Amino acid sequence: MKERACKECKRLTDLEVCPVCKGQTSPDWIGYIRIVNTEESEVARRLGIQTRGRYALKVR
Ligand SMILES: [Zn+2]
Repeated sequence: MKERACKECKRLTDLEVCPVCKGQTSPDWIGYIRIVNTEESEVARRLGIQTRGRYALKVR
């Protein structure tokens, strides 16, 4: 089964509701990044990501 991505925080999950922000998730997303260390990641800062995990780059 394809993973889904949260429309609010872009976190990847199998659930229909994001376990982190309770936002709606979508099966329609493109690319993902793995955030290991939020403090040292330029990308995480740019996307406003505060917790480790995998995030979609684009969610529709
Ligand atoms: Zn979320």
